[in-house]
Amino acid sequence: MKTGDIGEFEFIKRLTGDCVINTSGIVRSIGDDAAVYDPEPGILQVLTTDLLAEDVHFTRKSISPGNLGYKSLAVNLSDIAAMGAEPRHAFVSIAIPNDISLEYMDEVYTGMKELARIHDTNILGGDTTSSRSGLVINIAVTGSAPSNNLLYRNAAREGDLVFVTGSLGDSRAGLHLILNDLPYTGDNEELYMAHVRPRPHVDEGLFLGGFDGVHAGIDISDGLSSDLGHIADESNRGFIIYADRIPVSDNLSRFCDNYGFDPVKYALEGGEDYVLAITIDPAKAEAIIEEYNKRFEYPLVHIGEITADTLHQLKEPRGELSDLLPGGWDHFKS
Ligand SMILES: [Mg+2]
Repeated sequence: MKTGDIGEFEFIKRLTGDCVINTSGIVRSIGDDAAVYDPEPGILQVLTTDLLAEDVHFTRKSISPGNLGYKSLAVNLSDIAAMGAEPRHAFVSIAIPNDISLEYMDEVYTGMKELARIHDTNILGGDTTSSRSGLVINIAVTGSAPSNNLLYRNAAREGDLVFVTGSLGDSRAGLHLILNDLPYTGDNEELYMAHVRPRPHVDEGLFLGGFDGVHAGIDISDGLSSDLGHIADESNRGFIIYADRIPVSDNLSRFCDNYGFDPVKYALEGGEDYVLAITIDPAKAEAIIEEYNKRFEYPLVHIGEITADTLHQLKEPRGELSDLLPGGWDHFKS
């Protein structure tokens, strides 16, 4: 069955069951001209939006509809996590080409709601329209946090230690499999999944935002070198990272061995990992690491420092320093 067969209102009704997970503060959800909710007094609101367009960000052949829905929300939740905030409400707008079935859209929403449920996030509204050039999904997500918890990009200080909350480069390896029609199975499966179903580090961001000693934060969407560059540039500082401290998974090491790639390059320039990079006051780092590692399975990994200059540098294991050009996503595309 096609979306056109049942009309917009039936379509909306079909997709919007189970959209409100946490009713606190919700005055009106889907079904009026606008959603109405009551922000908590004294708490700052954050708002982010991200758009995924078919044949630009994904192809229908390379990602299942369930994973597409999941990822569309995950990239937004990752931005909320990078602010140290708690996600609250999502607004989902979709443009649907007429060769997409109702069942396909059901699965997109199932994937989205699965992740929404994990993070207690409501879907409070949005818009639907037809599309003449591919499927487009735009999601906006609100979040909230006490003002002290917010992790801004411009808050890094000289001497801060730089940490990441997960391994890097897997997603780019997954994309390589997709772009080159390589098998997604066996050893490659987790790399593929890192690309099509990234886990947003929401709990990690919320936890880290609660410490005064955690200064700046960003999620790794464009690649570590670019994204750390944003923190350094916005803070008028530089950074130095140690090539041999950048965490890469066993899967990525094996993949790079097999295909002759450099795992550090993948980790630095890959993008779409959606782990967090944060900077911590060196005097408070030890206590924060201890608390963090008690709570989370994957430890905080110390990869470098914020420097007084404005250079972006990589230190090789043998000690030589090289300038890190903001590679990342655009670089891979060209
Ligand atoms: Mg971001």
